[in-house]
Amino acid sequence: MAAEALAARGITVDIYDAMPSVGRKFLMAGKSGLNISHAEDRDVFLSRYRGDARLAEMVKAFGPSEIMEWMQELGIPAHTGPTGRMFPEMMKASPLLRAWLVRLQEMGTVLHPRHRWQGWDDTGALMFDTPDGAVTATPDATVLALGGASWKRLGSDGAWASLLAGKGVATAPFGPSNCGFLADWTDHLKEKFPGDPLKSVRLWTDGVHGRQETRSEFVITERGVESGGIYTLSAALVGALARDGSATLFVDLLPDMDEGAIAAKLARPRGKQSMANHLRKSVHVSGVKLALLHEATGGPLPAEPEALAQLIKAVPIRITGTAPLDEAISTTGGVVWRALDDYLMLHDMPGVFCAGEMIDWDAPTGGYLITACLATGKAAGEGAATWIART
Ligand SMILES: Cc1cc2nc3c(=O)[nH]c(=O)nc-3n(C[C@H](O)[C@H](O)[C@H](O)COP(=O)(O)OP(=O)(O)OC[C@H]3O[C@@H](n4cnc5c(N)ncnc54)[C@H](O)[C@@H]3O)c2cc1C
Repeated sequence: MAAEALAARGITVDIYDAMPSVGRKFLMAGKSGLNISHAEDRDVFLSRYRGDARLAEMVKAFGPSEIMEWMQELGIPAHTGPTGRMFPEMMKASPLLRAWLVRLQEMGTVLHPRHRWQGWDDTGALMFDTPDGAVTATPDATVLALGGASWKRLGSDGAWASLLAGKGVATAPFGPSNCGFLADWTDHLKEKFPGDPLKSVRLWTDGVHGRQETRSEFVITERGVESGGIYTLSAALVGALARDGSATLFVDLLPDMDEGAIAAKLARPRGKQSMANHLRKSVHVSGVKLALLHEATGGPLPAEPEALAQLIKAVPIRITGTAPLDEAISTTGGVVWRALDDYLMLHDMPGVFCAGEMIDWDAPTGGYLITACLATGKAAGEGAATWIART
């Protein structure tokens, strides 16, 4: 997006990427539907950026409606789902990336794959490792858009952080966001239920900023919990883990029934039925939901209907850590805002701009990540164009 903003002002742009092709994480994000942005009330939308005022300004300037228009210009209509999630009509990222690359090339942009940036040489030239040996470049301005530090196999390995730190640029350590979490499951749960979704549940945790809650679904993994609602609560869980060393995630298995109604159903005589059958028939709790109840008690379930109803409405899961950083959907940390001016240029390195996930911001899944990457890319590209015009 930075390249497009520069090229739109008649500036010749070279894009260097370490990988054999560009946009690999963008393509991966589109594997199960590229959720590129989110159409919702503007204040709610901006609140997703967690009080980050500078980022909010950028997504105000280039947000959901601008992204929709931009896609339309590329011949890819946007489709907005019932919850406001915005996708390309075909869902996948590849047609959009293809059309975008064609347009960039038509604007004179030149792609240089297999060029791994290695910092600056003594004369200030950019240094690249390529299969044909070392290459240098001396552009009028540089936009770094090197990504976060997860899914290394797609290119974003975070190795750039030490190159910038070596130049005195302030960076925050990388941390996982929108990630899976670890729980001490019994062998029974680990063996029988990995990959099983818990649909339409209510989840909450008491994070550093109070209770965070969501109505969503999530998946049981061999190591713990992942996906959907877990990503929504990931910042709160990460905060609680940092504060207390462990965190408790609560699950309401029957969010549409109150405790009294559940207890009343459970109080009906069960005759010779097992507790499992009684739960299945009276309140439709079975399979992975039943297994979670047993995980919570470590054995038999409470016999009293009221106590069992209470447990169903708030099953505690002890979270012991985060899944590995490399598996996170996004990462926090990177170049801190105070190292950047209003045009995303590094204060200490005139002519060098930053964009995307490499800047230290955070947002939930739901299209907010790519939106912020596009918005900061546009802002950095425009900043670089202004810089070039001035110098
Ligand atoms: C599985 C998955 C699903 C996702 N789904 C969504 C979604 O639906 N919606 C959403 O909003 N977000 C989603 N995300 C997050 C989103 O994809 C990222 O936030 C976004 O791609 C980050 O964009 P970026 O341009 O900042 O960095 P990246 O996309 O990571 O690109 C960084 C580029 O820099 C290159 N690079 C790094 N170091 C060097 C170097 N030294 N020299 C040269 N090149 C280098 C890399 O090769 C890479 O091409 C998903 C992420 C994952 C992993």
